[in-house]
Amino acid sequence: MEQKRSIEDVEFTGKSALVRVDFNVPLDGEGNITDDSRIRAVLPTINHILDEGGKVILMSHLGRPKGQQIGRMSLRPVARRLSRLLRQEVVMAPDCIGKEVLSMVEDLPQSGVILLENLRFHSGEEANDPEFAEQLALLGDVYVDDAFATAHRSHASVIGVPEHLSPAVAGFLMRKEISYFIKALETPFRPLAAVLGGAKVSDKTRAIKKLVEKVDKILLGGGMAFTFLTALGYDIGKSLVERDMIDLAREVMEKARERKLPIYLPVDFIAAEKRDETAVTSVVTIQEFPENLMGLDIGPATIILFREALADAKTIVWNGPMGVFELSPFNKGTFSMIDTLAHSRALTILGGGDTDTAVHTTGKSDMIDYISTGGGAFLKLLEVGELPGISALQDK
Ligand code: AMP
Repeated sequence: MEQKRSIEDVEFTGKSALVRVDFNVPLDGEGNITDDSRIRAVLPTINHILDEGGKVILMSHLGRPKGQQIGRMSLRPVARRLSRLLRQEVVMAPDCIGKEVLSMVEDLPQSGVILLENLRFHSGEEANDPEFAEQLALLGDVYVDDAFATAHRSHASVIGVPEHLSPAVAGFLMRKEISYFIKALETPFRPLAAVLGGAKVSDKTRAIKKLVEKVDKILLGGGMAFTFLTALGYDIGKSLVERDMIDLAREVMEKARERKLPIYLPVDFIAAEKRDETAVTSVVTIQEFPENLMGLDIGPATIILFREALADAKTIVWNGPMGVFELSPFNKGTFSMIDTLAHSRALTILGGGDTDTAVHTTGKSDMIDYISTGGGAFLKLLEVGELPGISALQDK
């Protein structure tokens, strides 16, 4: 995986670089970008190509328009923000393929930047339609992938386009993602601890099975912990449980036992009758879980337990919140986990998505060694050790 060619192996002078980025940024109701970290993350790649005198043609998706042109999913606000960050004009294309776009790209001066409109306005993107990929490929001479977060998807802009363009290389962000992944899971400093949370076990099934083989301890929080607790025979009231995942939970715990791998589960919770900002909450223990309540965050004893379990770790990988952190009564578990990682001497790596949002809310992102931009891609890479978007790039 480390053997992939990167943008440092390519000359960009006079070339058009077609760059797949992840500008799937959060927008508020008025179309304002509420967090631009995904845009900032690819600035080094863009600047490198511009400095060498290449043209930059950026392509991304935003949201799930499913082949429809939906105004509120236009990338226009991203072009404005990017333009401010780069301190130069970013031309906004009205579409991502077609004659008009092609001539806009041709007219672009050297060291110019153009952002193509949302790839997913065309159903060919997600379907990896060969004709759509070919049309996109007409826009560049060189393909650069800097969108780790979508590298697990076999979409046209991820695997179709690089079939037509040579060289096809990794951008700086992609290269960094791959190297941190290797540091964390292939050649880690041990003990290596994995912290998993979030709503569902089912999304993470295969990743959990792999983790059991690789790590030295596992901490489980969030909604997914209840499936494991149910497997152990505890009553969990009205908490989230995936009945069809109970056997898997048993299997994982059995495998862990064979490997003498400790699995830490919550011992207490912040519980409420409803998942609501104004809900009346109480601290309940796993031994006496009231049948009318649901556990929506880990409790204070668990926070201490988890902090101590992580004290000797030299590498910590975390994916998925400890509770319903979007609501203030249930955010302490997640926020204190962030605090633990922020003050840890371990190499701390966080796997994208919701966890990423939570860290940005606390303003402690700088205290975490690495925040991966892709939650799904991170899990998938863990599962199979390779991603379609990385395989599509050329080897050194
Ligand atoms: P995931 O996409 O699987 O990482 O799940 C993230 C979601 O899990 C967040 O939106 C949280 O609100 C939710 N979540 C975390 N803990 C719980 C819980 N105890 N019960 C229900 N949902 C939870």
